[in-house]
Amino acid sequence: MTEYKDIATPSRTKEILKQYGFSFKKSLGQNFLTEPNILRNIAATANLSEEDRIIEIGPGIGALTEHLARSNGQVLSFEIDQRLIEVLEDTMSPYPNVTVVNEDILKADVKQISEEVFKEEGPIKVVANLPYYITTPIMMHLLMSGLDVESMTVMMQKEVADRITAVPGTKAYGSLSIAVQYYMEAKLAFIVPKTAFVPQPNVDSAIIHLSKRSEPVVNVIDEDFFFTVTKSAFTQRRKTLWNNLTSHFGKDEKTKAWLETSLEEVGIDPKRRGETLSIQEFGKLSNSLMTNKK
Ligand code: SAM
Repeated sequence: MTEYKDIATPSRTKEILKQYGFSFKKSLGQNFLTEPNILRNIAATANLSEEDRIIEIGPGIGALTEHLARSNGQVLSFEIDQRLIEVLEDTMSPYPNVTVVNEDILKADVKQISEEVFKEEGPIKVVANLPYYITTPIMMHLLMSGLDVESMTVMMQKEVADRITAVPGTKAYGSLSIAVQYYMEAKLAFIVPKTAFVPQPNVDSAIIHLSKRSEPVVNVIDEDFFFTVTKSAFTQRRKTLWNNLTSHFGKDEKTKAWLETSLEEVGIDPKRRGETLSIQEFGKLSNSLMTNKK
């Protein structure tokens, strides 16, 4: 494929924005990347090939999209802002392998649209510079969409990236780390300074790379219940597991006996804090609570 001039240089971005009289909408998390090297690094981290089916959220004026398109894989981009559709028709015209859909990603049936758009079979890879006001909902929407996602290479505010990739025993570790790491292996790839964007956001950003686990990290009997137990253990971070569990499930004798039996059965000290438990321990605990019934 012919290499076209990068969209994301500061001067070309400025030119495109001017040509279309585009004004940024803060409410849509519109911070565009204007550093071609960073975009190249994101695409390289995603490790794309022509066999891939690539899903992007929020293409903006196509800064990252063109780097995805250059892999020769099939690209499907969801953009909520109608004003950007005509810009993308223009900037993406050299790339027939890109399809832009004007939809809110959170309302879109991503699985069905992917089946309609992607002609060829192939691994599904999500790559995006996410709108920061809805980072977590988007991640959860995609993880629970029923799509068989092979990997996700996504940019977000650094603080959220730290929480997603956190390990037990750290301040950043919580129910979000577990919700994501239950499905995927999570690694922080690299940090991006605020100066790489126009307009500049208030915080630094980070790219994380998530890859599908070949084996589930833990076999849970009931996923909803597993997530309920996990969330309840972090309700008040400074409290012990016992305090959080009894606050959530009840303090009556029957409930306490049920909780005590399971904690003992799986060898977890009730005086520990939720943040010290691994995903496996949460899995064992929720399975035991499920089997022992109240
Ligand atoms: N990919 C571009 C870049 O890297 O320069 C733009 C990234 S910008 C951080 C986020 C983009 O997501 C914007 O284009 C914004 O309009 C779009 N967006 C915001 N909310 C969205 C939603 N709910 N569904 C789809 N796109 C959304």
